[in-house]
Amino acid sequence: MNAQLNFECETGNYHTFCPISCVAWLYQKIQDSFFLVIGTKTCGYFLQNALGVMIFAEPRYAMAELEESDISAQLNDYKELKRLCLQIQQNRNPSVIIWIGTCTTEIIKMDLEGMAPKLEMELQIPIVVARANGLDYAFTQGEDTVLAALVHRCTQQTHSDQNKLVLFGSISNTVANQLTLELQKQNIHVDGWLPSQNYNDLPNLGSNVYVCAVNPFLSRTATTLMRRRKCKLIGAPFPIGPDGTKQWIEKICEAFHQKPQNLIQREQQIWNQLKQYCDLLHNKSVFFMGDNLLEISLARFLIRCGMIVNEIGIPYLDKRFQASELKLLKQTCEFMQSPLPRIVEKPDNYNQIQRIHEFQPDLVITGMGLANPLESRHINTKWSVEFTFAQIHGFINARDILELVTRPLRRNEKISKFEI
Ligand code: SF4
Repeated sequence: MNAQLNFECETGNYHTFCPISCVAWLYQKIQDSFFLVIGTKTCGYFLQNALGVMIFAEPRYAMAELEESDISAQLNDYKELKRLCLQIQQNRNPSVIIWIGTCTTEIIKMDLEGMAPKLEMELQIPIVVARANGLDYAFTQGEDTVLAALVHRCTQQTHSDQNKLVLFGSISNTVANQLTLELQKQNIHVDGWLPSQNYNDLPNLGSNVYVCAVNPFLSRTATTLMRRRKCKLIGAPFPIGPDGTKQWIEKICEAFHQKPQNLIQREQQIWNQLKQYCDLLHNKSVFFMGDNLLEISLARFLIRCGMIVNEIGIPYLDKRFQASELKLLKQTCEFMQSPLPRIVEKPDNYNQIQRIHEFQPDLVITGMGLANPLESRHINTKWSVEFTFAQIHGFINARDILELVTRPLRRNEKISKFEI
């Protein structure tokens, strides 16, 4: 089989979360930060609803709600933001305030990047600006804009001959420790993470620093690291599923001239543990509608588990950044003798629904907006947002991914038994 992957691009008429939702996981990750979303009530309503119970836990984020008078420039933006930031500083005393620009600040051309340095000097607190708006980005790309902005705040590595390793991508501390330990087993030391747990512990960057991503939606951060800080990017598939994790570790070992040890056995051991799930998934078909950019990695892992992927919808695909992942996807299809899935960038949900009716897949991975309507038409669905919040990286968490994927199938088995 020597076919090529087939890429298509549709209208971009699809459901996804607004990228400002990244504050939900980033404020928890960077523990001394405060996120100020500068937008309208629309953004506020979205955050309040999307983040569910978290809003009752006094989160370290807030909305600076623009009013009519802000938009018609009758109020002074600078003074208003200064007032709010002073209040945040007094009440919460964070180490950094991160301003999140929204659609409205873009459209009225509010000069956040111009105001931030002045206010930073005046209040003596770092103010980082990230434009995570719904005009330009989808869902998880919000994290990408924040991390790209943080790259500029990392200190410069003083010259040293030894190569360092910095990993980037926001994952829970437990998973970060698991990956660090896996690399330690290969005699590789992780010198820092972007983002770090505390703003003041951001990693040192420089030309002798190798950087490697843990998430597929961080292409801007990768470019910024390479162009602005001269870091060396390790292009690897992402550590999702045992196959991806093995190759991710291998690529890092290669960069540091280490011979991987016991990796094949480690991968096999995980596959053995997953056998029961793979049996259930064998020859079942799955359709990714696409809304969080994790789709290629997840599809590749599911194909390796024996599934057939009808379509991979994805909001945005950076073919260069995802090159290793795409290569592994192709290899996996060849290895499993599974047909190559079509990859649809900027999908059109309406067209996709027609295709779903045609394919009749066993599972559709989609957002909440379409999940229940599809279920009522007897199509199994899995809510895609859960993959963003669940722990899915590394060898150990492969099981969690399959727990999520098989849940609707197991549920249906139970229900059908009950009906008989
Ligand atoms: S899409 Fe724009 S207006 Fe809507 S919530 Fe996101 S930033 Fe706000």
